[in-house]
Order: sequence, then C-alpha cells, then structure tokens
Amino acid sequence: MNRSPNDEVCKVCESTEGYDRVFERLDKCRSCGFITFHGSSQDAPSSLYDEDYFAGGEYPDYLGQQDALRRSMRRHLKQMARYHPNRGSLLEVGSAYGLFLDEAKGHFESVAGIDICEGPTAYARERLGLNVECREFEERDFGSNRVDIVCFWDTVEHLAAPEVYLKKCATLLNKDGMVFLTTGDIGSLNARFRRARWRQIHPPSHLHYFSRVTITRLFNRLGFEVVGIETTSYYHTLFNVLASIRLREGLGGWLASTALRMIRENPARRLGFWINLGDIMFVAARLKNSASDQSNTSEPGSEGTSGNSSLLAEF
Ligand SMILES: [Zn+2]
Repeated sequence: MNRSPNDEVCKVCESTEGYDRVFERLDKCRSCGFITFHGSSQDAPSSLYDEDYFAGGEYPDYLGQQDALRRSMRRHLKQMARYHPNRGSLLEVGSAYGLFLDEAKGHFESVAGIDICEGPTAYARERLGLNVECREFEERDFGSNRVDIVCFWDTVEHLAAPEVYLKKCATLLNKDGMVFLTTGDIGSLNARFRRARWRQIHPPSHLHYFSRVTITRLFNRLGFEVVGIETTSYYHTLFNVLASIRLREGLGGWLASTALRMIRENPARRLGFWINLGDIMFVAARLKNSASDQSNTSEPGSEGTSGNSSLLAEF
C-alpha cells in the first residue's frame, strides 16, 4: 500500500493540510495548489532512466535527433543571456548526453554536468570530452566549490525531491548566482484545455507539475528571487513529432504510426520547425544576497575563482 498523500508535507509550501485528487492520478495541495504524484515508484527513480529512456522510452531517438536538440539548447543559451552574461562557471544537473554542455562550453570558462544515467554520462565524457559525472547531485559533496549558474533542463519534474536539489543549489552558487530551469506549466492554457490528457502528465517519470505560481513560491522559500519566467520553444523534426505521438495509445498513436510508415524517414528527419505551445516554462531565479551570505560562510565573492577550477579538477 502507498502511504496516504495526506501524510506528506507539501514540497512547495510545507503545509500539512493535505491534498485533493485531480486529473485522475495526481494530488493538489489544499494550501498552495502544487500538483504532484504520490506513487510507489517515487522511491526508485533511477530505475526509470536507463538508455531505453532516451531511445524509445520517453524520447523516440535522442541522439539521432541531436541536431534539433542542439538548436533548442542554443535557444536556452540565448534566453539565459537575458538574465546573466554567458560566462563564468556552469553546472548542469541532469546533463544526459551532454549536448547542452557541448553547446555552452564555448561561452563559459568552465562547464560540468552530473546525471544518474551511466550510458549518456559515458558518452558525454568519452565522445564529447566533457566534464560529466555519473552520480546523484543530492549526494555529491562539492566542498567549498562554487559555481555561477546551475541549470536543470526538463529535469525537476523527474526528481523525487526537487526542493532538496534547489536548496542545495543555494549553497553551491556564488553571490548573485542563478538557477535556470525548464519544466511544464500546468497553469498554462494548453494544460488547462487538455486537463488529464495533457502530454506532460505521465507519472511516474514526471512526478511534479509546477505552475508559475508554485515554482515561484518554492524558489522564494529556498532563498531565491524569480527574475523571469518565459515560455520556451523547441526545435522538432517531423520525424520526432510523429515518433513522439506514436508512443501514445489511441487514434493519435495509430495515425502517427501510419504516417511514419507512409513517408520516408530521411525527409522526415530533415524537415524541422519551432514549436511553442506555451506550456513549458523557462524560469530564471537569482540567489538573494541574504541567502548567499548565510550559505557561503567565508567570503563568498573571493573564493569564486579558485573554487571553480577545483570543481573541475574534482570531476
Ligand atoms: Zn503546498
């Protein structure tokens, strides 16, 4: 038997007022409205993320689509530059095959990644020559090292305890350091229209369903100021779109499967376009100075540079 969701403290507002069931399988905090999944698979998230996840599980063909993915990653870099110059040191949590880091490395003095998935982290290290470690971020001891930016691209919704990860970022960032993340927006028009059929709702790989209100509240509680929330665009090829729909059940899946059989694969892989349904948030959060002063106990500004280089050395 699963524990009753009403025994759980809300990860966003720390309320113990309990939850109401929404969208058939999810629970909504009665105090702040945060929507989450209380399922048994939360205890072993790493079992969900093997290489199959990137080759047909959640992504139809991750590496085969890397040109399109890299375009989206370059778009993320442009969005980041509106809030923080693209320089200094950057850590990506959930770095997968390292495509973002590979695009970012030309801008920053140092980039590093951490991910729980063995195959993709090995690819990032061995094929792309990146500084990436296969480990739980939560368990990694960074000592006195600091970074300027931590990124989570489409990652926080997968984490059993996103609040623990973001709290750890507060201790890891230099003064005025920033967290950038993308995640679904369950308060968006598209999510409200699709309701339980919104494509982002698929527990247990997606556990948490933030809105602009709840992600802001969580960041504020952890000592950050949210300085911007935008929607984000992703570049997709026709193949990728059809292959993603094919993974679903029902008429849509059947139609996509039929279309993929009828059209030739190479043109479908080349034909691409930007998609922005307005339901994926790009969130920029800056560490408040007061939180920085608490977490960086010894002169946070002065230890930044040396800390960055030893972070790289330890990876
Ligand atoms: Zn709450």
